[in-house]
Amino acid sequence: MGSKYFQVGQGVWGMRLYFVNIYMIANRRGNGKGWVLVDTGVKGSANKIIDMAESLFGLGTKPTAIVLTHGHSDHSGSLKELLRYWDVPVYVHPLEVPYLTGRSSYPPADATAGGGLMTLISWMWRTSPINVSRNLREIDPYDGIPELPEWKVIHTPGHTPGHISLFFPLNTTLIAGDAFTTTRTESAVYTLSYMKKLSGPPKYLTTDWYAAARSVRKLASLQPRIVATGHGPVMRGRELLTALSFLANRFEELAVPKDGRYVGHSAVADENGVRYIPPSNGDPKLTAGVAFAASVAAFLLVRRFW
Ligand SMILES: [Zn+2]
Ligand SMILES: [Zn+2]
Repeated sequence: MGSKYFQVGQGVWGMRLYFVNIYMIANRRGNGKGWVLVDTGVKGSANKIIDMAESLFGLGTKPTAIVLTHGHSDHSGSLKELLRYWDVPVYVHPLEVPYLTGRSSYPPADATAGGGLMTLISWMWRTSPINVSRNLREIDPYDGIPELPEWKVIHTPGHTPGHISLFFPLNTTLIAGDAFTTTRTESAVYTLSYMKKLSGPPKYLTTDWYAAARSVRKLASLQPRIVATGHGPVMRGRELLTALSFLANRFEELAVPKDGRYVGHSAVADENGVRYIPPSNGDPKLTAGVAFAASVAAFLLVRRFW
């Protein structure tokens, strides 16, 4: 099959696609066959995702729904491709809708926040929307996702306005998207090697740090025993609880960049998309060598993923 997936917990599997994770959740209720795909990875991942699904659930299987933690291009990259095979509903939070109907772009990445190669090349990230209106469904904040009756949807804005996390109370499994991560996403070395380090949301693409702090505290208060994030390896048990409460308690010191476009000035968005973007605080001060290395890396990454 070729796809290398891993088990997160009972009925939950994940797969790493270069530097981002996708997850599959089997539904224990209903007809016992249903499963849901969470996020879709970078562009060009559809075949790997279908291979994984078929080895878990059988040939010709398709999910009952796709859920996006948020619409960033590394999480929605293969969505359009997948919908050609699987014509299923795509659930997002109402505040994430404008970025998936072609209505609004995300605010630009902040290449001055966080340091690291991934930050320096973050201006290459696609922030413009895709349009999957035909399949799109708004998540009802009270009822959750009908295809995932046992999972709670938790609105965790900050990284993006309509970012959600999924929580399974029975064994306290949390799928946290990019609300926080388990690797240092600003560093190419950490991100590509999946080195474990519980961290805040990716610095260069987070546009409301006050909301991001509240979201991490909300998630920490759930005391999850298993956490699967958008970037980095699965974390569990005491190691997780200690690191997560440490991050929640010292979020401003550990996760918020020293300065940056969105630090102290959040971007503002509503159901129609972005309303206000703080002015740019200037270009990052790059030495010629770093700028050259960044452009080479950017060129290679962009050719591969965007
Ligand atoms: Zn993201
Ligand atoms: Zn991401």
